[in-house]
Amino acid sequence: MAKRGMLIVLSGPSGVGKGTVRKALFETGATDFSYSISMTTRKPREGEVNGVDYYFVSKEEFEENIRNGEMLEYAKYVDNYYGTPLKYVNETLDQGKDVFLEIEVNGAMQVRANCPDAVFVFLTPPDLMELKHRLIGRGTDAMDVINKRIKKAVGEIRMMRNYDYAVVNDEVSKAVERIQMIIRSERLRVTRVMPDYEQMIGDE
Ligand code: 5GP
Repeated sequence: MAKRGMLIVLSGPSGVGKGTVRKALFETGATDFSYSISMTTRKPREGEVNGVDYYFVSKEEFEENIRNGEMLEYAKYVDNYYGTPLKYVNETLDQGKDVFLEIEVNGAMQVRANCPDAVFVFLTPPDLMELKHRLIGRGTDAMDVINKRIKKAVGEIRMMRNYDYAVVNDEVSKAVERIQMIIRSERLRVTRVMPDYEQMIGDE
């Protein structure tokens, strides 16, 4: 039986550029993991292709999938469902291939609960720490607006605690490099390498 593949989860606050980084990562051509295409109830945007960017389905179809236990995780985001079909992930991992998910934070936490062996990467904006100073310094927003934005930003930083790695998205190409570095190292973890040797060394 093939050694089970590794599950990599890229997540992070909305607007941080997860989609852009994921696309750039796959465009390098240097990746040998499989991208899990998500299912969504949102309408396709111009240029998006069903079965490539997403599986675009109706709300009824999505809810049917949830009821049948066919989703690894799902979340509602801006009035639409987004989720990861379980079958593709399981089958691909069983074939020994690594699987890559790009999902929002609530879904990532469900994967964390169900798949503790997965690798969780938090993509973070470069300027969260400076946000307060910038907002106050700019002097254009009312203090309650500033406080709201800071509260949101702080909440976003807190989410980082639930992840294994933090990647600053200061430049897309740099973020891609960092993710590749993480994946290379994760593949060298003893727990992932050891199964290759177990047959050779036998049971003690
Ligand atoms: P968009 O509508 O811009 O394509 O995606 C909106 C948000 O949904 C993004 O943050 C994206 O990462 C997230 N997303 C995409 N696919 C999934 C998924 O399968 N599950 C979850 N939980 N979030 C997803």
